[in-house]
Amino acid sequence: MRFSQCYIPTLKETPAEAEVVSHKLLLRAGMVRKLTSGMYTYLPLGLRVLDKISRVIREEMATAGYQELLMPMVQPADLWKESGRWEHYGKELLRFRDRNDREYCLGPTHEEVITDLVRGEVRSYRQLPVRLYQIQTKFRDEIRPRFGLMRGREFVMKDGYSFDATAEGAEKSYWECHAAYKRIFQRLGLRFRPVEADSGSIGGNFSHEFMVLAEAGEDTIAFCHDCEYAANVERAEIRHQALGTPRDACPPAECVPTPGAHTVEDVSAMLGVPASSVVKTLIFLADGKPVAVLVRGDREVNDVKLKNLCHAQDVQMADAATVIALTHAPVGFAGPVGLDIPVYADNELMDGTDYVAGANKADSHWKHVDLYRDTRVTSWVDVRMITTEDACPRCGGRLELTHGIEVGHVFMLGRKYSDAMHATFLDENGKEQTMIMGCYGIGVSRVAAAAIEQNHDEHGIVFPPAIAPFDCLLLNLDPRNEAVNGKAEEIYRCLQSTGVEVLLDDREERPGVKFKDADLLGIPLQLVVGGKGLAKGVVECKDRRSGTKGELSVDNLTQAFAAWSAKVQDGWDAQQA
Ligand code: ATP
Ligand code: MG
Repeated sequence: MRFSQCYIPTLKETPAEAEVVSHKLLLRAGMVRKLTSGMYTYLPLGLRVLDKISRVIREEMATAGYQELLMPMVQPADLWKESGRWEHYGKELLRFRDRNDREYCLGPTHEEVITDLVRGEVRSYRQLPVRLYQIQTKFRDEIRPRFGLMRGREFVMKDGYSFDATAEGAEKSYWECHAAYKRIFQRLGLRFRPVEADSGSIGGNFSHEFMVLAEAGEDTIAFCHDCEYAANVERAEIRHQALGTPRDACPPAECVPTPGAHTVEDVSAMLGVPASSVVKTLIFLADGKPVAVLVRGDREVNDVKLKNLCHAQDVQMADAATVIALTHAPVGFAGPVGLDIPVYADNELMDGTDYVAGANKADSHWKHVDLYRDTRVTSWVDVRMITTEDACPRCGGRLELTHGIEVGHVFMLGRKYSDAMHATFLDENGKEQTMIMGCYGIGVSRVAAAAIEQNHDEHGIVFPPAIAPFDCLLLNLDPRNEAVNGKAEEIYRCLQSTGVEVLLDDREERPGVKFKDADLLGIPLQLVVGGKGLAKGVVECKDRRSGTKGELSVDNLTQAFAAWSAKVQDGWDAQQA
């Protein structure tokens, strides 16, 4: 492809709207343009990136025995009412009516549609398993679309589904897809980790997210130094070992004034106790019902765990008016003593006594609280966020926390949808059974952004070779010079004939402009054809990732290029390992 004939509107300035690097660079490199909030047009280069990612996904899904199909994006409400999600999905589901007043939604995911398809076709265990996937545009009316392609409203997803006759079969479908995902992200050149993920109200232990490791990631993952354990902190359970030693004797509780001390920091400073001796009491509404959650003052509540504990669809911090109505005190003074709603206390608080806690009275706290003696805890639970002070829940080893971008999610669904929607088959004995399902997503457009978050420098994108829109950028430094132009054209044809995808920068621009754009676009291999080099019989080459420059002899360019490009790939492989 010739740069002069390509629509690649690069920008010198960073657009003000962009907050994260991938968003900035995708805009600057002329790969995407925003249409409106959370919706982007993929320009030719951006589309090539999505195609590259999709190609790898297609190959590996095929290897894992999944076949591609394509389902409609618009889905009838009836199916969602059958599964029960019409009520539960909330506002991310964009709903509308047609001219006949029938209700529809834009597909945020396709469990209902695929279950409807398969139940209509499959009668016998002999037809199972069924393994299908599609690559398609999804729509989710995200509350806060942001970070460009990372969290769009309209985005491209690969979504796959498996239907099996037996639990063992379903696990096989799950793990084969899991293995395919590992191969996909490996081949895409990304540094990633599969982590245990929350399986929410669906139950079961089979859910993994695939996280691309990057600072800009919205997720936090905990992983162990000493074993294979890795989990999203939303899920990471806490290894609680009750101390087993008697708690210290606790003096009688005493209510003390704490004027204006709303936060744990204020209270601990005012009363001269460490934050770990303060009980933080937070009031939540779980599907509208109030619950109090107690954690140590230096810990955070994990609302995914809380949601699961309450078997709730939705958990939110109570608003100020609710807190006042329940505690008879302004926000900041809630405490468990005398509180008349369910109280979930974090296990860690079991080991201590002599706590400071809110007094449910303005500007007051209790000192010397013993939770067993002075309060009524409904249940002791694991409801806090894991920290690096905690031990690995599996082996007791040292934990580390890091940021990740969720690019894939595999899920053992069990019979959730097949039960609700009667997707059944006849087993060997002619008995009716319900199919067991799995579902498997990859955020194709998010992968493009994640790759850039992980691989960039101050000059621009540094695409992993498998994702780059082209393999090689060939810079013709002097298109008006006949010798240079002729050689550049010859090299262009020659590389193309050996299957290399080349973008030839044939524009009549200053070399400086071309070098800048080359680095911005992030194509892994740069070849520079200029008068000086040709006089020596060479073209200059540059590895975009390492910045290493060299020279390739013009005479046996094909071999020299192949050897160099293999070396560049080795550099990537080493970095990924
Ligand atoms: P998140 O927790 O980031 O909102 P999710 O868990 O809701 O994602 P899934 O339902 O698991 O997402 O969707 C499968 C994949 O689709 C995700 O792993 C992610 O890569 C991608 N994805 C989900 N939401 C978006 C979005 N708003 N923009 C881009 N990609 C998305
Ligand atoms: Mg997910």
